[in-house]
Amino acid sequence: MLVTAKPYFSKILVANRGEIAIRVFRTCHESGIGTVAVYSEADRTAPHVSAAQQAYPIGPAPARQSYLVTENIIEAAQKSGAEAIHPGYGFLAENADFAEAVQDAGLTWIGPPPDSMRLLGDKTAARKVAAAHDVPIVPGTPEPVGDLAAAAAAGKEIGYPIILKAVAGGGGKGMRVVESPEELEGALKMARSEARSAFGDESVYVEKYLSHPRHVEIQVMADTHGNCVWLGERECSVQRRHQKIIEETPSPILTPELRREMGEAAVRLAEAASYSGAGTVEFLLEADRYYFLEVNTRLQVEHPVTEMVTGRDLVLDLLCVAAGLPLGYEQRDVQPQGSAIEVRIYAEDPDNNFFPSPGYIEYINAPSGPGIRHDCGIDVGSEVTLHYDPLIAKLVAWAPDRARAISRIRRALEEYQIIGVTTILPFLRELLSYEPFQSGAYDTNIVSQMVEERKRHIAGREISGPSGEGERYAFIAAVAAAIFHTSKSEGFITGRGVDTQSKGHTSRWVSEGRELRQWQE
Ligand code: ADP
Repeated sequence: MLVTAKPYFSKILVANRGEIAIRVFRTCHESGIGTVAVYSEADRTAPHVSAAQQAYPIGPAPARQSYLVTENIIEAAQKSGAEAIHPGYGFLAENADFAEAVQDAGLTWIGPPPDSMRLLGDKTAARKVAAAHDVPIVPGTPEPVGDLAAAAAAGKEIGYPIILKAVAGGGGKGMRVVESPEELEGALKMARSEARSAFGDESVYVEKYLSHPRHVEIQVMADTHGNCVWLGERECSVQRRHQKIIEETPSPILTPELRREMGEAAVRLAEAASYSGAGTVEFLLEADRYYFLEVNTRLQVEHPVTEMVTGRDLVLDLLCVAAGLPLGYEQRDVQPQGSAIEVRIYAEDPDNNFFPSPGYIEYINAPSGPGIRHDCGIDVGSEVTLHYDPLIAKLVAWAPDRARAISRIRRALEEYQIIGVTTILPFLRELLSYEPFQSGAYDTNIVSQMVEERKRHIAGREISGPSGEGERYAFIAAVAAAIFHTSKSEGFITGRGVDTQSKGHTSRWVSEGRELRQWQE
């Protein structure tokens, strides 16, 4: 039987912003727990601030001067009377020093023990723990490579292509694929300098680069009483720049045997690191074999798909664990039902290499209806700035099976409109109707594969008007190119059409079936 205990906290501060802060507040409010937001100067009117019962300023817009300043966050918690701090994800969520500072200030850290975070947050140390507990790892160096000669020796032994990875890495940063020995020197310099500026640690190690892997990860949840369960997997192979944009569960390719094997491996690893709280053990899968990749010692962006199929509230589980309560359920109680897909709505321009696209949200029409969940961090009037991650919302669909989950999320994406910033919405619509995604036969190359195919398609076709969503987007792109060319104006493509800028004047063109019509305000 599943038991949900009410944690004893009376007030919690969330050291984060956007949709994740709002997500945590929701569980708190359902549990009768008071909520405290923190905000930078840029976020004074942000939705996460009004979603909390109290809010405290913590500094100027740059994260280094606000969301990453331990003292300011702890001071806000103390002023507000919060007993505990939830870090969300990103910012300080995987920072063991921050976790310790929270505990030293007499507050409860809602996350894993700092020592487990340190052990698993270091990718080479985590690989050693995995190997020692019979969890297969991607072939690679056990230690960081000291210099070019060591990297070259590793490359020779492992065989190209290889991938250089920051030991302290995260978010796809400090990673460089190296196809041949000639590319090694430049790639090593780049990986080191990116790792230094992102993590303050330039150590990198070498892994074999798997050419067609799938990214499949296992959600674990452990309490402080020795109970640890795994809550199914998430397939996260739809990525750009090694970062996820669509996640689904169950994975279209796992057999029940492989799923159980991977789940048990994840639990072994968590137990070996004396873990408690929510964690994700990430694996790469190639040719029916799985390899440990890394552990994320926090709640993940894509946790809602797991919640949709298991019926659990992972934030509530986390709060209970932090309060010292036992999990209240066992492995046999975890019986995922149906299929769930999440798409991440980024304010980015897919036609400009997914560059962030700042601006003000002028209009948002979010979908709803059966089986739809929308976790959103913006509102009309919100500013999307370059200071923070451009993830603005997540759309999740649940259905009894994968085919119906795909139909449902496609329907919801058709309803979804955001005006004011360029988003990846049209791109997501196209991805979801792309055959390899629909059939489930895809790997981490799916995005680049689709982009390449689209380029060839646009180059080779006459403009005769669109039929499906993907074609509509291609049509808009082609007409936009013609408008920019003939009017000598600059502009950008939005979800609904095209914005052109000429002599300081902006015109908006929206697509109406087969036509682009100039928008009259
Ligand atoms: P980060 O911690 O920066 O997110 P990960 O180690 O989790 O980095 O890897 C992120 C993504 O990069 C993976 O999902 C995968 O697509 C790609 N990747 C990482 N290591 C390898 C590898 N050895 N071979 C192929 N792809 C890899």
